[in-house]
Amino acid sequence: MNERAQCPGCREVERLGRRRFLQLLAGGAALALAGCTSPVRALARHRKPEEALPTATPATIVDDVEGGSPIELGEIPPPHPGGAHLVWSGPAGTQQIAWTVDDGYCQQCIAQYVAFAQNSGIHLTLNPNGVFGDLWTPSVVAQVREMVANKQLQFGNHTWDHKDLTKLKEAAIQSELSRNEVWIEDTFGVTARPYFRPPYGYYNPQVLEVAGALGYTSILMWNGTFGDATLETPEQIVSLAEYWLKPGTIMLGHLNHTPILDLFDQIHSIIASRNLDPVTLDEMFGTSRLIG
Ligand SMILES: [Zn+2]
Repeated sequence: MNERAQCPGCREVERLGRRRFLQLLAGGAALALAGCTSPVRALARHRKPEEALPTATPATIVDDVEGGSPIELGEIPPPHPGGAHLVWSGPAGTQQIAWTVDDGYCQQCIAQYVAFAQNSGIHLTLNPNGVFGDLWTPSVVAQVREMVANKQLQFGNHTWDHKDLTKLKEAAIQSELSRNEVWIEDTFGVTARPYFRPPYGYYNPQVLEVAGALGYTSILMWNGTFGDATLETPEQIVSLAEYWLKPGTIMLGHLNHTPILDLFDQIHSIIASRNLDPVTLDEMFGTSRLIG
């Protein structure tokens, strides 16, 4: 079994067909198939050390008539170690999609994504890197905590600073996951377990073993993408949205570049016109923040 793709998009190319990849390549959207760029390099441009980390606010309870009882933030369940399995798509037979959003080295992107969720009510799963934590302002954190409590937003672990984990030793992999988990728990009052998205989609047997031992038994991959790990044009993003958004899609997005911010209404219209149901991973797979 080939445990690691040679490039971020290679596994996607293999899975989704070379012909479609070449079509995208011809359209200038080849990088759409890639997972993530190198946000750590971008950190030097975007990080603002003078800004303090957001301060966690008290537990928020928000009534949610559709999602059952709200989550009481701050009650973190213990890890449930086990064997890790890959998650590529949603279950068949529903109209569900999971819109997932990674990284976060663009403060404007974070703020406007969160505002979009609040204004539209759309359900999202966030996989941010804690190294960019100072870009999550206290007001944005407060908004997120409210939506986490009512189960509209959910977190997965995407590691602290987005290293290629296949190049790290066991202790370093543990640190990447645990440090980010602590940041998510302390900031947003909820665990990311059991969901872990490896940076770039890169993993190997050691990565899976360490993740599973820490309670990250669902290794979150994707089968659709907005292509915005790198800077894309609005036309490319809309084209990819139209191509990939269909029942069962786990859609890959990023909090890294601004072009998608002006396209939320357009993308939401595509979702609505296809009668798709955007859900969190908990809603898609029957997991729970109360269990982790
Ligand atoms: Zn990433």
